[in-house]
Amino acid sequence: MTERGGTALVAGGGIGGLAVAIGLRRAGWSVTVLERAAEFREVGAGWSFAPNAVRAADALGVGEELRAVSVPTEAGATLRTPAGGHLMRFRAGRDTPLLANHRADLHRVLLGHLPAAAVRAGAEVTGVEQTDRRVTAVYRTPGGLRRAEADVLIGADGIGSVVRRSTWPDSPAPVFQRILCWRGVTKPGSVWPVEGFQTWGRGARFGAHPLSRQRVFWFLTVRQNEPGARYDDNLAEVRHRIGDWHEPIPALLSATPPDSVLCHDIYDLDPLTSYAAGRVALLGDAAHAMTPFLAQGACQALEDAAILASELTGATEIPAALARYDEARRPRSQQVRHMARQDPRISLSTSTLTYCLMTRLTRLAGGGVAARKAARLWDWTPPIPSRHGEESE
Ligand SMILES: Cc1cc2nc3c(=O)[nH]c(=O)nc-3n(C[C@H](O)[C@H](O)[C@H](O)COP(=O)(O)OP(=O)(O)OC[C@H]3O[C@@H](n4cnc5c(N)ncnc54)[C@H](O)[C@@H]3O)c2cc1C
Repeated sequence: MTERGGTALVAGGGIGGLAVAIGLRRAGWSVTVLERAAEFREVGAGWSFAPNAVRAADALGVGEELRAVSVPTEAGATLRTPAGGHLMRFRAGRDTPLLANHRADLHRVLLGHLPAAAVRAGAEVTGVEQTDRRVTAVYRTPGGLRRAEADVLIGADGIGSVVRRSTWPDSPAPVFQRILCWRGVTKPGSVWPVEGFQTWGRGARFGAHPLSRQRVFWFLTVRQNEPGARYDDNLAEVRHRIGDWHEPIPALLSATPPDSVLCHDIYDLDPLTSYAAGRVALLGDAAHAMTPFLAQGACQALEDAAILASELTGATEIPAALARYDEARRPRSQQVRHMARQDPRISLSTSTLTYCLMTRLTRLAGGGVAARKAARLWDWTPPIPSRHGEESE
């Protein structure tokens, strides 16, 4: 290992994997990302980022790009009923806008920060082996099985993480949260402008965020007892469920190409006992997959990436640096994961009584309480980089 940095393998080229690769390269590390997909395509829909994630992106040196591909959205503080009434309205000065973007746009700018040779597509990690001195990823390519060695291996391979299962064979399997989610993006300029809002129905929650190029990202989450429900025509199913909700919801659905609508079961992970073992660390959904109800999964992955890159900067004792990362990240990310599991137990309840209480309380107490709750979640700031091995005063 050189004084500047060593060698790192990152399993998974999602937002978490690319972000930590960028952070490590800035710290002088030589990084290779192994991504299962054969190519990086325009995938996914939209998502939103809270201030904690933007600060993490700044710490990683990609904050400007994140802002440049994003559009402010008021959906965090504008809550409506299916008939169109307001439970809460975004108030400038009190409420913080989130930043929404298309996944493909953010992915493209993150990839742009890495040299082509640092990202290997069509490389599916199938196992991890480590000794005191080195860690090895075994991965499958179209040309056969390969092995790569490094000083550290980061498992950023999502909720079904092979790195997690390989290094922590007893780790729990993902848990279905009895939630089904549809997502879509409108054609550019078809419904515009849209400020961003959420609409709470009984057992169903809709949200919409403006995106760049005058597109709108929308999602619908509903209660679903069993995983695996699939529909021939997703858009028709969404219309069937909420087509009579307030405008612009029907307009947004009409402006969405039917073939592009995504439908997924929502799983999360029970708590892990550690995110680090020797020279292997987990990050993002591989470590703490959570429901999307706080819109924090990718935000937490960016926080992880900022802290992991900071802990490995100048580190000579890799296991000790990864143990510090685990100590710094596990309590916070597990708290957010726990909150994201609890939230839909009330907010997606199908009980009429719970729905009435929830909407009435939100109307009465609304903005102030929600703003304080969000502030606690979003208040995170990255640490000031320190030189490891030196005691701070
Ligand atoms: C409906 C929905 C809405 C959401 N909205 C938001 C939001 O608004 N804000 C927010 O912050 N978060 C949101 N999230 C959460 C967010 O999508 C995830 O937390 C985030 O994508 C996690 O990033 P990641 O890089 O850890 O994992 P992933 O995005 O899952 O990336 C993992 C990568 O690893 C690759 N991979 C998998 N296995 C292997 C292997 N064996 N070898 C090599 N590569 C492999 C995959 O192909 C993928 O590219 C939402 C999630 C859902 C489901």
